[in-house]
Amino acid sequence: MRVIIIGSGIAGLSAAIALRKVGAEVAVYERAPELREVGAGISLWANALRALDHIGAGESVPAVSLRMARSEIRGRDGHKIQIGMRADELEKRFGVSEFVRMIHRADLVTALASHLPPGTARYGHECVAVEGGDATAKVRFANGHTDEADVVVGADGIHSVVRAAVLGPEVPRYSGYTCWRGICQRPASIEPGYVAEWWGRGKRVGITTLPDDRVYWWATKNAPPNGREADDRAFLIAEFRDWAEPAPTLFATTPADRIFRNDILDRPPARKWSKGRVGVIGDAAHPTTPNLGQGGCMAIEDAVVLARCLATASDPARGLEAFAAERRPRTTAITRESWKFGRLGQTEGRLTCWLRDAAIGLLAGLLAPKGFLKYARYDTGPLPLSARTGS
Ligand SMILES: Cc1cc2nc3c(=O)[nH]c(=O)nc-3n(C[C@H](O)[C@H](O)[C@H](O)COP(=O)(O)OP(=O)(O)OC[C@H]3O[C@@H](n4cnc5c(N)ncnc54)[C@H](O)[C@@H]3O)c2cc1C
Repeated sequence: MRVIIIGSGIAGLSAAIALRKVGAEVAVYERAPELREVGAGISLWANALRALDHIGAGESVPAVSLRMARSEIRGRDGHKIQIGMRADELEKRFGVSEFVRMIHRADLVTALASHLPPGTARYGHECVAVEGGDATAKVRFANGHTDEADVVVGADGIHSVVRAAVLGPEVPRYSGYTCWRGICQRPASIEPGYVAEWWGRGKRVGITTLPDDRVYWWATKNAPPNGREADDRAFLIAEFRDWAEPAPTLFATTPADRIFRNDILDRPPARKWSKGRVGVIGDAAHPTTPNLGQGGCMAIEDAVVLARCLATASDPARGLEAFAAERRPRTTAITRESWKFGRLGQTEGRLTCWLRDAAIGLLAGLLAPKGFLKYARYDTGPLPLSARTGS
């Protein structure tokens, strides 16, 4: 079976590795001129670390990532809202060897790409059209190149061209808040392995520590969509000037040209993810707000399940349908819960924020393991290593 994957992000590269493991011939097409990722970090929860092990890429992550030691939520003035979670306790409780690893996105995609033979990914190819036929599916690129295969998989992110070919054009849903991200030197007050969020009224700041004494930070604020600031760093310094450390230091010590801003978007869960031989995975299928840190993790899980379904189905269209049937319940639950958690975090009213913080302080220790932490226990199951695809 020959598979074309559009997009060399986390989903596309993971799927390429997994599909090659089950015997498929794979070509990845990426519109960027080279392998690259935004200058930010990402948390890989136990479910993603397990999925990476299933595709044989797990061993390349520890050397370039940092294990979470503890995490907590504080108020904007620094007072503790939530009793901190210690990773060693979570690991014992959930029976996993590592609960979360934090990694620079560029290091993650480089680690994934190292599992593919040179030439598997072709850069500078922007997909502009996809068409599924009875015997093959065809793709056309902005540079005039065309290709065809047994299956076309769109791993081309939230604004996916392949998704539009499957479901028709739809505009993503704006969450009501925008997000800035950056990486700076770790302030001395923060120990390696520390993860935290500071919650204010309609604003949040979060950090995860990275290897090499760096910190990845993010900051959110309720705002109209498509806003722009002349100077993001100056804006953040002013906007968060009365917040507890380390927020002011994080913004002040990040180079202005290394601060990225994105409106936070998702899409309501879709009723289908494929049409014949053309399907979607990762953010192209189930874009999720980042509040549970699971979007990239689910993209890696998708890779395992997609490869298994295509390897074992009687034909590619059925394989894509089986993939969606297995994945949709989980991704739908996470997308919905993440949306709700984001609304809670971005609450703005003085009284509602007070109530929120009090409730989280009282209940988080009880509810978190039953709530979003349960997503980290999930196991896709292994690849059918003996399977060999046929179209
Ligand atoms: C602020 C923020 C924080 C987050 N934090 C976390 C976290 O801690 N943990 C976590 O698991 N997830 C996190 N996520 C979510 C995670 O980033 C995404 O779910 C993940 O990147 C999705 O990967 P993907 O490969 O599906 O899509 P993308 O990363 O969007 O990759 C798509 C690729 O396709 C390419 N492409 C697009 N269109 C075309 C085209 N027409 N032709 C060819 N190529 C194309 C793009 O250039 C890109 O390389 C976060 C997201 C945000 C916004």
